[in-house]
Amino acid sequence: MFEDLRDLYQEVIFDHNRNPRNFRVMDNADREVEGFNPLCGDRLTLYLKLDGDIITDASFQGSGCAISTASVSLMTEIVQGKTELEAEELFNQFHEMTTGKDEEINLEAIGKLAVLAGVREYPARVKCATLAWHTLDAALKNQEASISTE
Ligand code: ZN
Repeated sequence: MFEDLRDLYQEVIFDHNRNPRNFRVMDNADREVEGFNPLCGDRLTLYLKLDGDIITDASFQGSGCAISTASVSLMTEIVQGKTELEAEELFNQFHEMTTGKDEEINLEAIGKLAVLAGVREYPARVKCATLAWHTLDAALKNQEASISTE
């Protein structure tokens, strides 16, 4: 099944890289954290708007490779409307998907993010895909203004 989906996955990554979603500066953001992946040079600033523990808006700015851009673009789409707890759970599943040895991926739970499952075959690119999520994690914990994957 994974082989059959590979072309579709690549199309989604290309699409999000060419037309990143939520690529904008957010005025009056509740959280703003910079993420940096020195291994590849990916840089992004993540903005969140929160209502209680619900993420009501997410956007980003920055520049990086196709995988990091597609990953943060997809992430800003998927976390909107989620609670902090749900977002952390997605982060755990995403991390498991991109680093785990298990061939079975819970496509239902992870939804569109499954398009990035292929990075597990390229260990050097895993940090490109997870940068967005580590930055989100830092933004939700609200303790650091910037994070680095190294
Ligand atoms: Zn990268």
